[in-house]
Amino acid sequence: MPLTLALVAHDRMKPALAEWAARHAEELAPHALICTATTGGVLQDRNPDLNVTTVKSGPLGGDQQIGGMIAEGRVQGMIFFPDPLAPQAHDVDVKALLRIALVYDVPCAFSPATADLLVAGGLLRR
Ligand code: PGA
Repeated sequence: MPLTLALVAHDRMKPALAEWAARHAEELAPHALICTATTGGVLQDRNPDLNVTTVKSGPLGGDQQIGGMIAEGRVQGMIFFPDPLAPQAHDVDVKALLRIALVYDVPCAFSPATADLLVAGGLLRR
């Protein structure tokens, strides 16, 4: 059954997320990908065949929208590449998104290496 996966990356990490998705394009293809606005644009440009839907940009409420979807049980996995070296204006929203993902035990990965492990662990084959 197709999953809904949230894919989000901070600015300097967007190319890494787009490349990660390209490496896993075949496995991601059957699933619905929900992205914050700018992440979704970069991802779709690199991977035109993937099924990408966007919410608002993270700093404009997109992280909260994805958090709301998690609370409603509509997201089965999250790949989120935060920038570990840059402060974020919407840091509280980022923290809230991570917290709600933990509350609902949504499988998450925060870097290419851990996202690879999530895929290797069978998330996309559920
Ligand atoms: P963006 O938002 O994809 O619109 O840049 C991501 C974020 O900063 O949370």
